Amino acid sequence: MKILVTGGAGYIGSHLVTELLQQNYEVVVVDNLSTSSEKSLENIKKITNKDFKFYNCDIKDIEKMNKVFQENKIDAVVHFAAYSLVGESMTTPLKYYDNNIYGTKCLLESMIENNVKKIVFSSTAAVYGEPKQVPILETNETNPTNTYGETKLAIEKMMSWCDKAYGVKYVALRYFNACGAHPSGLIGENHNPESHLIPIILQVPNGKREFISVFGDDYNTEDGTCVRDYIHVCDLADAHILAVNYLLDGNESNVFNLGNGVGFSVKEVITETEKVVGEKINSKMAERRAGDPATLTASSQKAKDVLGWKPKMNNLNQIIATAWNWHKNHKNGFED
Ligand code: UDP
Repeated sequence: MKILVTGGAGYIGSHLVTELLQQNYEVVVVDNLSTSSEKSLENIKKITNKDFKFYNCDIKDIEKMNKVFQENKIDAVVHFAAYSLVGESMTTPLKYYDNNIYGTKCLLESMIENNVKKIVFSSTAAVYGEPKQVPILETNETNPTNTYGETKLAIEKMMSWCDKAYGVKYVALRYFNACGAHPSGLIGENHNPESHLIPIILQVPNGKREFISVFGDDYNTEDGTCVRDYIHVCDLADAHILAVNYLLDGNESNVFNLGNGVGFSVKEVITETEKVVGEKINSKMAERRAGDPATLTASSQKAKDVLGWKPKMNNLNQIIATAWNWHKNHKNGFED
């Protein structure tokens, strides 16, 4: 089976490419390297001892994408290529509409033109916005509170209309808080600027910041800080492979939440990180961050029942240990 991975050099994409190669799939990566590093592709080859085709190409370049599809007989696409910083999406919304929505429109166009009609899409819990109940089910209302989530929801809808019109079958995977790194320590999270909790906490023991700011301690949660559902990137990769096979087996389009179902507060994550690194991590209370719901946890029962997904890393300490194993040797991401 030959799988095209857009954004395959990025954080979650690189973990999927690794897992696909280890399970003997043929892989073609398309990435414009705008927010990722080609070094991640080199490291995937080191981990797996396998090779794959790489096209330095923007998914908006339909001519080039048609060539990719013509040169490779693709069975299914897994689509990660997108901007994913919530804060940035609020200050430069049109950049997100262009890259995420228009980019996916172009990708779908070249898929349809080349008769490739199966796509697994990297969606997000941000499509739900402020939840009325937790754990969140796929049937809950979708009402994004930021541009990033809005663009991902628009893409889900675009795929659904393309299913009706052209028979494009899709699976949208709505991730909760993706975190951790490959056990090899050779690939991991590398955002610029970094905005995610665990990498930011780890910048303290790495000597890159003096303290972590805790965004709000007056939420309606046990210790007053926000509660999130942290899910390991390798478990996410597993879910994508199951979703690819679900589509290859001829199943209908579908949407799945991916989370551990267990919530941890910001304070709990800091305490657990102190245990992993073996030192005190300074923190300071700060204002709430705009648009942060108090608690976000997933019901992933549907992914378990329908896809047969079983997250393996459900212990926060173990998850943070894999992140530390990556960040301590890559203080400046792939530049180290
Ligand atoms: N957070 C924080 N300090 C930081 C970064 C994040 O207190 O420097 C909190 C944030 O308010 C949220 C949680 O950590 O409650 C997870 O944030 P992240 O940006 O990692 O993911 P999100 O839940 O926004 O997708």
